[in-house]
Amino acid sequence: MNLTLHDTMTGEKRRFVPADPKRVTMYVCGPTVYSYAHVGNGRAAVAFDLLFRVLRHIYGAEAVVYSRNITDVDDKINAAAAAQGVPISAITDRFSAVYDADMGALGVLAPTLAPRATAHIDDIQTMIGRLVENGSAYAAEGHVLFSIESFPDYGKLSGRSVEDMIAGARVEVAPYKRHPADFVLWKPSKPGEPVWDSPWGAGRPGWHIECSAMIDSSLGVPIDIHGGGHDLIFPHHENEIAQSRCADGAPVFANYWVHNGFLTMDAEKMSKSTGNGVLVHDLVKQVAPEAIRWALLSAHYRAPLDWSSDLLAQARKSLDRLYGALRRAADLPVRAGDPPAAFAEALGDDLNTPRAMAELFALAKILETSDDPVERTAAKAGLLGAGALLGVLQQDPETWFQGPVDEELKAKVDALLKTRFEARQAKDFATADRIRAELTALNVVVMDSPDGATWRLGEATGTAE
Ligand code: AMP
Ligand code: ZN
Repeated sequence: MNLTLHDTMTGEKRRFVPADPKRVTMYVCGPTVYSYAHVGNGRAAVAFDLLFRVLRHIYGAEAVVYSRNITDVDDKINAAAAAQGVPISAITDRFSAVYDADMGALGVLAPTLAPRATAHIDDIQTMIGRLVENGSAYAAEGHVLFSIESFPDYGKLSGRSVEDMIAGARVEVAPYKRHPADFVLWKPSKPGEPVWDSPWGAGRPGWHIECSAMIDSSLGVPIDIHGGGHDLIFPHHENEIAQSRCADGAPVFANYWVHNGFLTMDAEKMSKSTGNGVLVHDLVKQVAPEAIRWALLSAHYRAPLDWSSDLLAQARKSLDRLYGALRRAADLPVRAGDPPAAFAEALGDDLNTPRAMAELFALAKILETSDDPVERTAAKAGLLGAGALLGVLQQDPETWFQGPVDEELKAKVDALLKTRFEARQAKDFATADRIRAELTALNVVVMDSPDGATWRLGEATGTAE
């Protein structure tokens, strides 16, 4: 399977060639852990999970090192800790565990490494020390600032001039800055904030230097792929490049820059800080997590995607059809095979998921229409193999059709269905109807068939109806 990736640095799709196919390295800027992740954060996690899966497929699971950091020192974390009167670690421990569980529900594999900023303060200080020593950074009034004038390539990733940056980013003009676009590597902590001793005064690191230091210590530069949401291109990734290249004297920091597009709701950016978000934590309890994953992958990762009840309903329908085809082929003792060529080609083309998904329906069609056992066997193996690469279609079809349920609800619904069955046998239709209404109120959809009734949860989107 060949892979091309759209590289933000060159603005072009480029054939992916790792520096060392036995050790393929990818770093993605991970969550700031002060509250629940919304579906937009989920989109970023799922997009890079797909890339991780594709890389593992091509180079072997052992050959890919994927590092996704946890930002556990940040103003918003401090604010949340202060508001709740708890230490910072109580917030960050809780929400990094919640993040892992929620992303796990979306089928996101654990990254190989998950470095936390607070565990790398020494590395951060070492890197800042190197930058100060070689004149790329300077200390002033308890701060250390990166001097953008020391790095001629500053602005290359985002394609911005220094004037644009000053205008666009509303950079803070502070008296201790030599240039208004110089950015903070270290700053004094305010009372009550976490604080570490340093040669430049007690304080804490800036956000950008954390990633540079964690990349250095967890992977080493240059890395093959650096990823994140496209909101991070400027200033975060621009600053990471400046820091890492100046500290390491490296001509290249990352060989490919991959950025996912944003998830919006009603055309507005979904954002943690504005509270305009559907939380993954809530949504996975209301709808099949696999349908959420499918919905997030249904647009190309670089394109914007608007979250809506229609999108989720469509995802559900698509999976119903595919699982239906697999159910029809339940008699064939087949395991996942290699993904079919047309599917692999689509996915290898800068992760073109819409095209790859269309190939799944072509396979489903074979299972729906063909009687030829050889053809059907190949189609089922292909569907399962392709699904594994996308991180879908790995459940028993019966489990899919039943839907995700908690045990308490399952026991209740099973009991209601039993009573309804008995009422019908006794021709007590009033009771049967009442139970049906009760099930509907529980958002349970009952499907009667000659073999008895099956059921699943109805649609819910987490968006206000
Ligand atoms: P945060 O926890 O806010 O620092 O974000 C974690 C990751 O999610 C970053 O890579 C962001 O770029 C990405 N992200 C945040 N909001 C969205 C969104 N609405 N759609 C897609 N990605 C997002
Ligand atoms: Zn970063």
